[in-house]
Amino acid sequence: MELICPIDQRCSHQIAALLRPPSPPIVQEYFDQLISKRKCQGIKVKQNGDLGKGVFSETDFEEEQLIFKDEMLVGVQHPSNKIDCLVCSYCFKFIGSIEKQIGRKLYLKTIGIGNSSHNGCQSNSSDDEEDNHYVQNHHSSENGASSSSGSTIPLPMMAVESLMNGELTLPYSNKFPLPSVVSCLGGCEEAFYCSKSCAEADWESSHCLLCTGEKSESCSRKALLKFIQHANETNDIFLLAAKAISFTILRYRKLKASHMSEQEKPASSMLGTDLSILLEAWKPISIGHKRRWWDCIALPDDIDASDEATFRREIQELAFTSLQLLKEAIFDKECELLFSFEIYGHIIGMFELNNLDLVVASPVEDYFLYIDDLLYPEKKEAEKITQPYLDALGEDYSNCCQGTAFFPLQSCMNHSCCPNAKAFKREEDRDGQATIIALRPICNGKEVTISYIDEDLSFEERQALLADYGFRCRCPRCLDEER
Ligand SMILES: [Zn+2]
Ligand SMILES: [Zn+2]
Ligand SMILES: [Zn+2]
Repeated sequence: MELICPIDQRCSHQIAALLRPPSPPIVQEYFDQLISKRKCQGIKVKQNGDLGKGVFSETDFEEEQLIFKDEMLVGVQHPSNKIDCLVCSYCFKFIGSIEKQIGRKLYLKTIGIGNSSHNGCQSNSSDDEEDNHYVQNHHSSENGASSSSGSTIPLPMMAVESLMNGELTLPYSNKFPLPSVVSCLGGCEEAFYCSKSCAEADWESSHCLLCTGEKSESCSRKALLKFIQHANETNDIFLLAAKAISFTILRYRKLKASHMSEQEKPASSMLGTDLSILLEAWKPISIGHKRRWWDCIALPDDIDASDEATFRREIQELAFTSLQLLKEAIFDKECELLFSFEIYGHIIGMFELNNLDLVVASPVEDYFLYIDDLLYPEKKEAEKITQPYLDALGEDYSNCCQGTAFFPLQSCMNHSCCPNAKAFKREEDRDGQATIIALRPICNGKEVTISYIDEDLSFEERQALLADYGFRCRCPRCLDEER
């Protein structure tokens, strides 16, 4: 396969301009604005030459205090997880009802979609390419409700359907209300929302180009379906990259429209790509990217070092195929630079190096735990109805929403093997935002750190894992243990 990108050849200067790291004052301004927009007072992103960016406290935090919440720039639910959980495609809150969540999952399982039982929330992704995912902690589910372990007992289809279409109400499910399902504005059957505002926000930020429904603004819905299928079969990191490109194109159009109305120039002088506007639209991505995907991806454990070149070449080919499919689907002449292979490689590389896990705990788990905690005779009465459903769900009953996302502030946080903070979802944190909590008191001016890995591992094991992130840890604990 020849990997020649005509855009790379024709526009090398403009592409170099997009890939040039933004100057420190621009980076600073970006994060200062982001922090004030999100109202996360008490932190500041500081830049420190070779050591890169870090998040610092600007106030005192107590143990277990919330330090900040970080909204994702772009995120996707893992394709296999879509069977387990029906969530808002924009904010990732669970939607519908307890009955709909359970009924839909059993229905999809019964008709044979989603046989590949996905691993639980606490375990890491088993995909080699995703091995360096950092799993966001969420509340432990050790004391799970008692479902018949291992095997599942199927239910008659009628019982499943009556749950899914709302004919049957489960006892106490009104204690776990969920927002009703809002359909996609474009009419696709893939995106669902918790509210009209989420539907509109998603449509405007990226979905109008990536929707496969009737009102899609893509060039070809057929090509788009092919792109999505390829990503689902290979790596969902391509879906994130497509969202990032779509997001940048739409930002470019909005910025250009507002420039035109501001300057009241004749439209003719604004024909063609305006590089300065594209650079502005590209800023959120330009802050994050560093290296091309095929150069920065960690070599999976089961691949011998002697096969490294072949592995990197295959990864590159995969990305090339994905880009050709995406180009057919959503190409935009004015933003053609975004469809260069160089740029695509850097966008995916950014997600590879900062691929933070998106985790939202399931209300279905809470529901069955609630039933389990009821007292006799209420418990017995309720279980008469709920137990067959729990048995049919099996161990998967507690599966949470899982995906990958890019969190701009969290991705600035440096690692420490003795961190003073952690990414942790509290009981009330029920959407896709990242939540950073203090592990111990943090004084004003201190750097806020999290651990990218399991910090209970030995010194050697930690260093080996951190090498995948491209650095050798020199935190106080490592310096101490190295001696
Ligand atoms: Zn929502
Ligand atoms: Zn849609
Ligand atoms: Zn360390």
